[in-house]
Amino acid sequence: MNAEANVNSEVDVLIAGAGPAGMTAALVASLEGLDVLLCEKSDQVGGTGSTSAGTLWIPGNSQSRAAGFNDSEEQADFYLSALIGEATNRELRHAYLLTGPTAIDYLGARTDVRFVPCGTHPDYRSNMPGAAIAGRAIVPEPFDGRLLGAEFQRIRAPIPEFMLFGGMMVGKVDISRLIGRFDSVANFVHSAKLFTRYLADRLRYPRGTRLMMGNALIGRLFYSLRKRNVPILFGAPIVELAGDRDGVKGARFNIGGKEIFVKARKGVVLATGGYGHNKRFRDAFMPQPVPLHSMSCESNSGDGVDLGQRLGAAIALEQGTSGLWTPVSIVPRPDGTKGLFPHLVLDRAKPGLIAVNSAGRRFVNEAASYHDFVLAMFDSNKTTPSIPAWLICDASFLKKYGLGVIYPGHRNPGKFVDRGYVANAHTIEDLAGKIGVDPQQLDRTIARYNGFAETGIDSDFGKGETELNRFNGDADHRPNPCIGPVATPPFYALAVWPADIAVSTGLATDADARVLGNDGQPIPGLYACGNDMASVMAGSYPGPGTTLGPAIVFAYRAVMHAKGAPV
Ligand SMILES: Cc1cc2nc3c(=O)[nH]c(=O)nc-3n(C[C@H](O)[C@H](O)[C@H](O)COP(=O)(O)OP(=O)(O)OC[C@H]3O[C@@H](n4cnc5c(N)ncnc54)[C@H](O)[C@@H]3O)c2cc1C
Repeated sequence: MNAEANVNSEVDVLIAGAGPAGMTAALVASLEGLDVLLCEKSDQVGGTGSTSAGTLWIPGNSQSRAAGFNDSEEQADFYLSALIGEATNRELRHAYLLTGPTAIDYLGARTDVRFVPCGTHPDYRSNMPGAAIAGRAIVPEPFDGRLLGAEFQRIRAPIPEFMLFGGMMVGKVDISRLIGRFDSVANFVHSAKLFTRYLADRLRYPRGTRLMMGNALIGRLFYSLRKRNVPILFGAPIVELAGDRDGVKGARFNIGGKEIFVKARKGVVLATGGYGHNKRFRDAFMPQPVPLHSMSCESNSGDGVDLGQRLGAAIALEQGTSGLWTPVSIVPRPDGTKGLFPHLVLDRAKPGLIAVNSAGRRFVNEAASYHDFVLAMFDSNKTTPSIPAWLICDASFLKKYGLGVIYPGHRNPGKFVDRGYVANAHTIEDLAGKIGVDPQQLDRTIARYNGFAETGIDSDFGKGETELNRFNGDADHRPNPCIGPVATPPFYALAVWPADIAVSTGLATDADARVLGNDGQPIPGLYACGNDMASVMAGSYPGPGTTLGPAIVFAYRAVMHAKGAPV
């Protein structure tokens, strides 16, 4: 739809932001027979969601149950109470757990937004009571972008570092088969098929159309919205809410320099992705020194939170460090720009890598979740400069497991040294000198860690002790799948920094995603979901899918409430 075509001046539900939260809200509104308009600031759908892994944490989901994984909302509640605190967000948490499976089944039955179980995918504090090892995480089914025809270009692309050959998406299974393509006929055939499909795609499309993970989620949401002819305005940021503390009646959008007012009979839903790129909010909410990097999509400048606040909405401040974090390395790209590579699951937990601070000391279990890893960076940085921290490994590790954007078995890792991505040296002392870390201490740290590699017991940080650690380690490595020696030169060091993959501070809401005023009462007609809504997890990160799960579930609840049929 062109930006200015057919703008209805009055609808039932007006939604700002076409990420997973806003698109879900729009889809549910349309399915419920409401007149809906979805307005998006950029010229593409997907937001940060399109660059995500697309995992949803939905305890008790029926997809996993059908696949034989037993879980219950009660166990998940037990876990969340232990992790977040019994009283914190109790009502919202219960609403989330109650509605999660329903919302997913609703989409699965009535739209093309369908999910499959991940099976084993441990919770991030897998040693806490109520944590699950399997059954809570689901991912979208891969999606064929060709179904969108010319509109495929409306889907925001994944980050370039997550694509092969400049545009091919691959999943976890694909990666292992591609790496082992000469190990078996099945692997070779699978790899050849992927490549042939990709080549055919590139004759017609700017990138591969076999969409996985977050891109599949967005592809499926967009395809479903198009099938239902839900109007989407692109290049249309929400700039003002019409109304006051006592009720929101609609909103103004800026389209090509012209302001358009749209009246909303039943409600306005803010889903503008949170404040990742808003300096004022970062300074106000995040820990000091305020992290410099965000993985949020660049158009997420806190508009929803700002508009809500201006109207008298409360900000929910009990949000830990106000972000959900990952360590990132900074990638110099061939075109002179810089990318951020998130060290989520591929390298940190593997045997033969340690993380050290500027004193050359370990400060964390390297196999902890990406969120917990960064919390440890913040903690360590209070006494010893730990931002950046350094991931250290040797040549054998690099060859076998890769490091950041250097994939396993890369034939020319020297290229990454030349570009300044990673440092290397033939001795630990020289390496320490290159990165400004205490050489004697680094030597001692590595000698001690190499001792742990022999015994299999990390007496300092317990690397390899939890299900989560081992899940991301190397099952074939003994005696501990997460600990191996750092011994074969050359040695490598890679700087990692904290970056938010999502923000957790946002507008305070009730369990129906109604935005609350400073007096704790709902502002009639105003809803928030996704990262505009303060996280139901209160800054904790229980497991894979901690933000997309709530984004979809509270979008569903918001619209049902706006319709007058609260769940
Ligand atoms: C590498 C990576 C991996 C991730 N993996 C996962 C995962 O597997 N599971 C998980 O739960 N989370 C994951 N996340 C986090 C997840 O992607 C985000 O939390 C999620 O996308 C937030 O959804 P949203 O709809 O609130 O915002 P977004 O997806 O960011 O969408 C917001 C949209 O609003 C638009 N917008 C902004 N301002 C305005 C305005 N004024 N008017 C109109 N539109 C506006 C933006 O352009 C954007 O399109 C990951 C993130 C990253 C970076």
